[in-house]
Amino acid sequence: MKINAFPSELQSDLIPSPGGRLIYRCLGCQAEFGIQELLYTCPQCRSVLLIYDADFDRLKANPGAKWRRIFDFRQMLTIPALKGIYRFHEFIGPNLPLESIVYLGEGHTPVVEANARLQDMVGIRFYYKNDGQNPSASFKDRGMASAFSYINYLIQNGHIKDVLAICASTGDTSAAAALYAAYLQPGIKSAVLLPHKKITPQQLAQPLGNGAAVYEIPGVFDDCMKVVEALSDKYNVALLNSKNAWRILGQESYSYEIAQAFEYDMADKVVVVPIGNAGNITAVMSGFLKFYETGIIEALPKIVGVQSQHANPVYLHYQQPDPKNRPFKPVTVKPSVAQAAMIGNPVSMPRVTYLVDHYNRIAGAQKVNFVEVSEQAIMDWQLTANQNGHIACTHGGETLAGLAALRKQGLLREDETAICDSTAHALKFIDFQTMYFEQRLPEEFEVEPQAALINAPQLVQPGAHVKTPAPGAPLEVQDMQQFIQVVSDQIAQDLDLKPRAH
Ligand SMILES: *Cc1c(COP(=O)(O)O)cnc(C)c1O
Ligand SMILES: [Zn+2]
Repeated sequence: MKINAFPSELQSDLIPSPGGRLIYRCLGCQAEFGIQELLYTCPQCRSVLLIYDADFDRLKANPGAKWRRIFDFRQMLTIPALKGIYRFHEFIGPNLPLESIVYLGEGHTPVVEANARLQDMVGIRFYYKNDGQNPSASFKDRGMASAFSYINYLIQNGHIKDVLAICASTGDTSAAAALYAAYLQPGIKSAVLLPHKKITPQQLAQPLGNGAAVYEIPGVFDDCMKVVEALSDKYNVALLNSKNAWRILGQESYSYEIAQAFEYDMADKVVVVPIGNAGNITAVMSGFLKFYETGIIEALPKIVGVQSQHANPVYLHYQQPDPKNRPFKPVTVKPSVAQAAMIGNPVSMPRVTYLVDHYNRIAGAQKVNFVEVSEQAIMDWQLTANQNGHIACTHGGETLAGLAALRKQGLLREDETAICDSTAHALKFIDFQTMYFEQRLPEEFEVEPQAALINAPQLVQPGAHVKTPAPGAPLEVQDMQQFIQVVSDQIAQDLDLKPRAH
């Protein structure tokens, strides 16, 4: 729709112009730094940073109702820069001119209600938000759209050039980084570091296909992360891990979209996310807080962070009830089917501790909770979800397993509504399904395949007396008829089909 067709009182607000005053703030020593430099950790105390808008209060000049109208009408604009996460420009990257924004189709992923059968099994009304329907098939594209738009802005304005984007990854960060870097050739090149044999073949294929330099490193993700940190300390590279606070800003769009999808009514809503490096849950809390502070939503939803028992440092941390006795202890991870969340020492932990306190204080109740689930529950719930029409990845299985566990423990009411994050597309992690079905998941995963969930193809064998077609070698008419007859009879018998009544 063209701009002059919109309600006249909204026209001047629909297309945003650059504003705000973004500043890095250290979560360790509270020091502040300008954003003209690419920073990942505090130059003074090495702690992680968040970006805040020193002019945030200007956004409160609009009543919440006006913002809601702006975002709802903005959906009808056809300007590419505002088609993705920057529909919420003022909250994500207010300093960026539209010319700098990189849009590859990220965001606005479908929110799909589970069917009655599956909701019955879980005992609560719930939806999946399918973040696997982002361009590189995981939610990481949200953060990359933000980080790369900012880098693009710095390049366009001559602040930096010949950028090498670098990241460590459990598979999806590298896929997303390589995609956005490839789009911004030739000014940006990318290099990714992956734990050898700890990512799926699909995830390895992605950065290779997008032309990144791919390095496989012995060890697990936490080890790759240390190498990347050493590289970004010593050399002139752009770090694209969620340590980069621009990633967090982009991933806040997940919360804004949920708010919009439920007409900004967040009362009695429960948002369930998996935790790995804890960038995602950081962004989800931060996003809802910003919409709450500006009156766009009038209640804060509950937030549930789910971890596998094989990679559960955040869960264990919050098991300790007294905050004073709660020094954070990294764990050594064990193999997990929720492989993208197999992280023992989450980089964003300081952000999580800060935001959990803040969120609960503003909500006036303990609204952020953590739960752990078994590898068995992750696989079983993923397969059950997909047998009911979803495209959940193993992490989507993890969120659903967490939801089911909380409901069973009586920690959620039947009249609440949950939104489970399927953080990636099922196909990225499909080998775990295959290994489950073929009963060859290595023992250390501690998953016992359940017969009722197993599925396998059946090879139809017409028998030695029947000629079979082959590529380039079609059958004679009569042979073909016999082939069709024998094969269709076998299938009909197997499916117990009843003949059509004439
Ligand atoms: C990265 C990732 C996670 C974990 O998110 P964090 O922000 O690291 O906590 C979960 N699921 C998938 C599919 C991912 O790619
Ligand atoms: Zn500091």
